Amino acid sequence: AKSGKYGQICYCDKEMLEKLERRRKVIQVLKEKLDDESFQMYYQPIYSVKSGRFFYAESLMRIPDSPIGPIYPSEFIPVAEETGLIVNITYIILDKVCKFINHLMSKGIYVGSIHVNFSALQFSQPNLSERVLEIIRSNGTPMSAIKIEFTESTLAESPQVVTDFTMKMKEHGIKMGLDDFGTGYSNIATVINIPFGTVKLDKSLVWVSMKNENSALAVKNLTRTFKELGMKVIAEGVETEAQRKLVVDFGVDQIQGFYYAKPMPEAEMEEFMLAQS
Ligand code: C2E
Ligand code: CA
Ligand code: CA
Ligand code: CA
Repeated sequence: AKSGKYGQICYCDKEMLEKLERRRKVIQVLKEKLDDESFQMYYQPIYSVKSGRFFYAESLMRIPDSPIGPIYPSEFIPVAEETGLIVNITYIILDKVCKFINHLMSKGIYVGSIHVNFSALQFSQPNLSERVLEIIRSNGTPMSAIKIEFTESTLAESPQVVTDFTMKMKEHGIKMGLDDFGTGYSNIATVINIPFGTVKLDKSLVWVSMKNENSALAVKNLTRTFKELGMKVIAEGVETEAQRKLVVDFGVDQIQGFYYAKPMPEAEMEEFMLAQS
């Protein structure tokens, strides 16, 4: 009887209800807790191969503490995207990042740029560039200290919108970077014709190149092509010395990964940057 059909249906329903309930709570946290401390930005330093220093970092959202405990990006980012909440969250993040950059600069710390992630949904906002410019301007943050990361899938979905936005940001000195390159969505012909400042090779490309010589050769040649076209190339997901050596051999300009540092809270990031200056 325990393994009977009805028992199973009952079990599935219970599991589904629990999932829905959890989702409802995550949405509630995203909606109600945006302004207090439940959501924080973490920063992961990015290493510049030429200078041997960390002038860049990626901002990554964290919910370390909430009425339902910590919630991880793999759970809350999809929920924020499906509900559309990500649009306003991103503006709040951009504002927080501007304030952090201002703080670092007030301490005399040199900031190359801090990367902010933009989801595909952001690009469906008709007033996107106005909002972005307004937030950066009202903080008095140098435009060049912000780099907007958008993914390969966003580019595939709306190449024209992304291209126009990239041109506009470039006019104002705001940097643009393609994220997750190599996850299989973008047309290389499209990518090479848009003037992104940087292309970030997805971690999967780095990892597969460790195991497969053909992949390594392809990624090395891709890196060279991007560089010849005037783009900077970042490798992400570098965890080991062997991976670091490999991507240096590819000729990448910058390296991001646990090998150097994990994402860390503001105060730690400040210490990290101070320690090298
Ligand atoms: P992403 O934009 O590709 O961010 C890089 C992810 O790789 C981060 O995961 C980072 O912690 C992780 N990572 C960095 N170095 C290594 C490494 O050496 N090894 C491994 N295994 N992982 C590494 P995280 O913070 O969990 O974020 C996951 C994804 O969630 C992000 O992928 C991004 O798509 C999304 N996300 C996170 N924060 C934000 C945000 O503020 N806004 C938006 N729109 N999306 C965000
Ligand atoms: Ca990213
Ligand atoms: Ca990425
Ligand atoms: Ca990703």
